[in-house]
Amino acid sequence: MSIIKLDKNYTYDILKNDLIFLKILYPNLEIKSIGKSTLGEDIKYIILGKGERKLFINASHHANEWMTSLIIMLFIEKYLELYKNKKMYKGYVIEELWNRTSIFIVPMVNPDGVNLCLKDKKIIINKSYEEIWKKYENNLEGWKANIRGVDLNLNYPAGWEEAVKNKKIYSPGPRDYPGPNSVSEIETKNMIDFSKLFLFDMTISLHSQGQEIYWSYLDKKIKKAYDIGKIFERVSGYTLTQPQYTSSFAGYKDWYIQTFNKPSYTIEIGKGKEGESLPLKDAQKIYEEVEEIFLVAAQMC
Ligand SMILES: [Zn+2]
Repeated sequence: MSIIKLDKNYTYDILKNDLIFLKILYPNLEIKSIGKSTLGEDIKYIILGKGERKLFINASHHANEWMTSLIIMLFIEKYLELYKNKKMYKGYVIEELWNRTSIFIVPMVNPDGVNLCLKDKKIIINKSYEEIWKKYENNLEGWKANIRGVDLNLNYPAGWEEAVKNKKIYSPGPRDYPGPNSVSEIETKNMIDFSKLFLFDMTISLHSQGQEIYWSYLDKKIKKAYDIGKIFERVSGYTLTQPQYTSSFAGYKDWYIQTFNKPSYTIEIGKGKEGESLPLKDAQKIYEEVEEIFLVAAQMC
């Protein structure tokens, strides 16, 4: 019987409960926090494995891309189960991966934004930052930003000024506002501090949608990142490519490549209607598309 269910929009509370149940089933699972969100929620992280290599996977920088959280939680449960049962899977010896690589996972970078997008009662009653989101009340399912109306994946110090110029949004709102300055948001700051603490060998940021894999930052094109990206492409059927120029700045991947010169990817999962969240009915299919990417990454990072 699985803990992670595919029948509900994936709010922060569901994620928290799922983590608690996983911990009951797998007592060695450590659940920690990289720090708080704007509204004081813990931004959770867990570690799978005990190897020296360090892989970092994060999801839901963007609120309406909460499907990415559900997908990575499905992987967490599957990987724990495979390891516990000492199973081979798709040709991978899971125990070897476990001993080779520590997989750090932040399943929801932007809990307040996800809760707002999904109209979680707590947020609506709380009324914090209501002056920012109130006028979009009938359209919150399109909300990408954090609760302060800042697009977290445009808030990193990697060409941040370019992001401002490209997006031309100068005040808080549902999407595309890079903030008053780079790292203006506590969520961004926590992600940066966390990354500097552990110095990952590879990072994967899950976004939606488009079935594409981005692997470079401007002219920084790491050969190893390309080679492994080609394997990601093969196992998922997704396309290894570059984002449009206007979306090429101030994201987590951009910052990580610029700062550490290590393979760092954005993966745009699934394919649905433009501007809408991916539908729950596609969750299993999307999971199957990307699952092996995580195994390849654990083996090759
Ligand atoms: Zn995104």
